[in-house]
Amino acid sequence: MAWDFQTEPEFEAKLEWMRSFVRNEIMPLETLDDQWREPGGWDRFAAITAPLKEEVKRQGLWAAHLPPDMGGLGFGQVKLGLMHEILGACAYAPAIFGNQAPDSGNAELLAVGGTPEQKAQWMQPLLDGKFRSCFSMTEPGAGADPTRLTTRAELDGDEWVINGHKWFSSNASIAELLIVMCRTGDPAEVGPYKAFSMILVPRHTPGVNILRDVPTMSHPDHRTGEPGGHAEILYENVRVPKDNIVGGYEAGLGQGFALAQKRLGPGRIHHAMRWLGQSQRAFDMLCERALTRHVSGGVLSDKQMIQDWIAESYAEMQAARLLTLQAAWKMDQLHAAGRHYSDARTEIAVIKFWGAKALYNVIDRAIQIHGSLGYTTDLPLEAMYRNARAARIYDGPDEVHKVTVARQMLKRYKESEVPTEHVPTRRRAAIEKFADYLDLAALNS
Ligand SMILES: Cc1cc2nc3c(=O)[nH]c(=O)nc-3n(C[C@H](O)[C@H](O)[C@H](O)COP(=O)(O)OP(=O)(O)OC[C@H]3O[C@@H](n4cnc5c(N)ncnc54)[C@H](O)[C@@H]3O)c2cc1C
Repeated sequence: MAWDFQTEPEFEAKLEWMRSFVRNEIMPLETLDDQWREPGGWDRFAAITAPLKEEVKRQGLWAAHLPPDMGGLGFGQVKLGLMHEILGACAYAPAIFGNQAPDSGNAELLAVGGTPEQKAQWMQPLLDGKFRSCFSMTEPGAGADPTRLTTRAELDGDEWVINGHKWFSSNASIAELLIVMCRTGDPAEVGPYKAFSMILVPRHTPGVNILRDVPTMSHPDHRTGEPGGHAEILYENVRVPKDNIVGGYEAGLGQGFALAQKRLGPGRIHHAMRWLGQSQRAFDMLCERALTRHVSGGVLSDKQMIQDWIAESYAEMQAARLLTLQAAWKMDQLHAAGRHYSDARTEIAVIKFWGAKALYNVIDRAIQIHGSLGYTTDLPLEAMYRNARAARIYDGPDEVHKVTVARQMLKRYKESEVPTEHVPTRRRAAIEKFADYLDLAALNS
């Protein structure tokens, strides 16, 4: 099967513009991180980034993730992937291009599952960058296996009444819209995958009780209400209109899992390509240091162990890039054929764990080659390392994706009492097949 990741020269020119814009206009903001946490700091950040966002809009690159009929640019996953590789180098860049997680995924979700009213009320302002949103699924008691979620939504007249306990709802404390995964049916009756629905909950609805943003390895000193937090939330008798369900609720069958699959597929391509942007940055630091630092017996780049790191890092990144672009390409083919992304589930699952591993390994080596400097906040590597650790957990931990890949692979096989490659058995068959030509007496002696 032929693969083609090539894009036309006009798009290559756009990618080049993005590279330069991210490097020269956005990356310098990273060094001012401490400023945003001062009183009025986020307002200053908004004032600095507003003209940058305008420039992105002028270039026609704002919120590029949706198909044109849904308000996007129709890039498809390969081009979006290439774009996210560039944006991923800097944590601020996706927001300045209007396609940061989880808002981009939530807009995609509304695009595929929302009613015209939901799109007008929530999706369009989300695409316009008018507010932030949150995807509220994981609970303290259930994450990797979402069939165990316990947050319930029950119909009472024309309203859903939601009760439950969530955490790791990213950006909930600064969001206007929470998309809440709720149990709406009895798994014993409708099966586990039809027992859940996504319900739109405006954050200021009575009963939405944000307990705290949970500090993490990425942001150990995070304060509740700052951007990038992961909220713990109690939903206590939260009432929203019946029409706030996404994807319908025909005959008591929830669409939550079907929608989650649609939302997470493209999101994983974008994550994996953003990780490559981070990996490349760490790789650049690794190589620069290798050529610069002298130790006993010469420069580091002459040491075979260091050369091994460079070669391994390059190979892991290149494999991640090709795997991800191939997954993106397959998704584009499926989309063009009107088929579901779930037919690319193996490819998508592979990049999730492989990409996260490559990211982690390359940053780790880049820290190591910088010695004590790599461990300090004088370089971005320590923060990149802390962020990278989460990649092996969010959007499903490594192990779950490996289970998916293994299951899909195993479907191609069946059990065999005698191994298919068992040489004596194959030899007997070969003797029978070629009996006319063989000296049977010699073979049987
Ligand atoms: C930075 C960050 C942001 C996040 N943002 C969001 C968000 O916005 N919204 C949201 O809803 N959630 C979010 N999450 C939560 C994330 O999706 C969950 O952490 C993830 O799905 C795993 O669930 P869990 O933490 O409950 O782990 P558990 O389900 O308790 O699993 C724990 C571990 O068990 C192992 N394991 C699990 N299943 C299997 C299996 N089948 N086979 C073998 N081993 C297995 C894995 O090692 C796994 O890490 C975020 C998490 C992080 C770290």
